[in-house]
Amino acid sequence: MSPNPLGSPTPLLGFAAWSGTGKTTLLLQLIPLLKSRGIRVAAIKHTHHNFDIDQPGKDSYALRKSGADQLLVASAQRWALMTETRERQQEPNLIQLLPQLDHTQLDLILIEGFKHEAIPRIELYRSPIGKPLLYPDDPQIIAIALTATESIQPTIPRLDLDNSSQIADFIQTQLKPQQEPITMDTPKQPLLPFNQAQEQIFQQITPTRETESIRIKEALGRTLGEEIISPIDVPAYDNSAMDGYAMRGEDLPTGGSATLEVIGSSFAGTPFEGRVGAGQSVRIMTGAKIPSGADTVIMQEKARREGEQVTFSSEDNHKAGENVRMAGEDMGEGEAVLQPGQPLGAAELGMIASLGYSSVQVKKRIRVAFFSTGDELCSAGEPLGDGQIYDSNRYTVFSLLSELGVELIDLGIIRDQRELIEQAFHDAAAEADVVITSGGVSVGEADFVKETLDKLGEINFWRIAMKPGKPLAFGKLDGAWFFGLPGNPVSAMVTFMQFVRPALNHLAGKERISPFRIPLRCSNRLKKRPGRLEFQRGIMEQNEQGETVVRGAGHQGSHILRSMSLADCFIVLPEENGGVEAGDWVEVEPF
Ligand code: AMP
Ligand code: MG
Repeated sequence: MSPNPLGSPTPLLGFAAWSGTGKTTLLLQLIPLLKSRGIRVAAIKHTHHNFDIDQPGKDSYALRKSGADQLLVASAQRWALMTETRERQQEPNLIQLLPQLDHTQLDLILIEGFKHEAIPRIELYRSPIGKPLLYPDDPQIIAIALTATESIQPTIPRLDLDNSSQIADFIQTQLKPQQEPITMDTPKQPLLPFNQAQEQIFQQITPTRETESIRIKEALGRTLGEEIISPIDVPAYDNSAMDGYAMRGEDLPTGGSATLEVIGSSFAGTPFEGRVGAGQSVRIMTGAKIPSGADTVIMQEKARREGEQVTFSSEDNHKAGENVRMAGEDMGEGEAVLQPGQPLGAAELGMIASLGYSSVQVKKRIRVAFFSTGDELCSAGEPLGDGQIYDSNRYTVFSLLSELGVELIDLGIIRDQRELIEQAFHDAAAEADVVITSGGVSVGEADFVKETLDKLGEINFWRIAMKPGKPLAFGKLDGAWFFGLPGNPVSAMVTFMQFVRPALNHLAGKERISPFRIPLRCSNRLKKRPGRLEFQRGIMEQNEQGETVVRGAGHQGSHILRSMSLADCFIVLPEENGGVEAGDWVEVEPF
């Protein structure tokens, strides 16, 4: 089994269940079965009762009650160590308790209780108890034991609660030497590395070539479809960077001061018509054309004006040519200033306008159809039925798509019925360049999304080595690109941000940009197990020393949208990372 997280040399296996599910009954069957297969077993049980294993009247009992903190009683058949915790009155944890066992004599330790300890567990479930699963989504749960009649379709191994020898078989396979750690990722199909999934998507999608001409005021957020070549110099003429006096560099004083005659003024939009000669200057404003003859501007703060005369001192170290912006300094005539694929933001649209263009050639908008799948979904605004949840993915996907400036087709919620799903996929693919759905793509789904997709298109169902967002479907459906996002709200958002957004940008012909990541110190501990690239939700803030640090945004469950809302970045933890201690450096991807 796993090299153990709690440092135990012997593999640990916990059993989790609501009381009444039959944990002890199962253990009573399992232990003799495991023993009969040569597996040496210890059991650790947590109880909330103030138990005692000795009894009044025995000498050992009296010795302990007289105040011995520990008592070891031994005979030829067995020995027992009793330790009083009365001083501390704290729940002992497994890290303290495990060294009490003789690990040289053990192959496996079965654990009941200690539900907050990070150990692999089998969860036992019975619906008549009337309680939900104790640990949905917990990667420490390696299998679920259910009776044959239960309708739950776990994505991890399902064991038969009434078949203890099958459960013993499962445990035995997990104990094989050099076995991979038992986790939810015990591969049925190996996990696909994150980068490979991203690359495969990029390689398949070819950017659109279609363009259209639109007015620049409508072009914000669009992608440039042509090369922009400057038809003019920008600025069009040499002009002043300051309010001051335009003059000839030769007339600067080399010692003491120089006094020049002021022969006129040049305002932005109203240039001085004459020529500046020796001993002359022109009053000039920022952006105004430099008069002919002049090549230097002295800022007005360094000039002393008296009537029609102005005086400059050599102490100010003026230089010939200062404070003059040269024609074509920003963009020169004939220069290629923007390339196709350039996203058009405020600066680019300003640049294009400064060249005199009122319209621009942009890439055609891509059309994206999206819908949610699931029988449990209810649209916002409608009354919630029993066992239903509101559809949130359609709103997060809609919002994320809106930011990309694509054309949107909202196809609503599609129920888990074969014909409906098939119809929805065909309709979506006919109308759109890209179809995005959420739900129904994980392994072991009870609905028809996967089955239908398998029939209709060339779709890959990936299990990606990332968290959240392990399942993702990607492929082609009737000529449209298809992305099947996982159903859990945070998984849907993360896979959208990490795969769909770059893919849509690529399809839209935008330049590929690598994600912007910065190293920051993490101010708290973050739990993680090696094996998957994790995008933990984080909050950037300043600590007391004024340094920018990041901390986890709280509950990291893939269904907890609130921590996504609190977060302003992902803390990106590489596959091999096994957890972060306070003060460690981490990589942060701001939203
Ligand atoms: P699925 O991938 O369909 O098994 O869904 C995984 C989890 O995500 C389940 O708990 C679903 O109820 C939930 N879920 C699926 N679709 C949505 C949705 N559109 N909005 C909110 N939660 C969803
Ligand atoms: Mg579903």
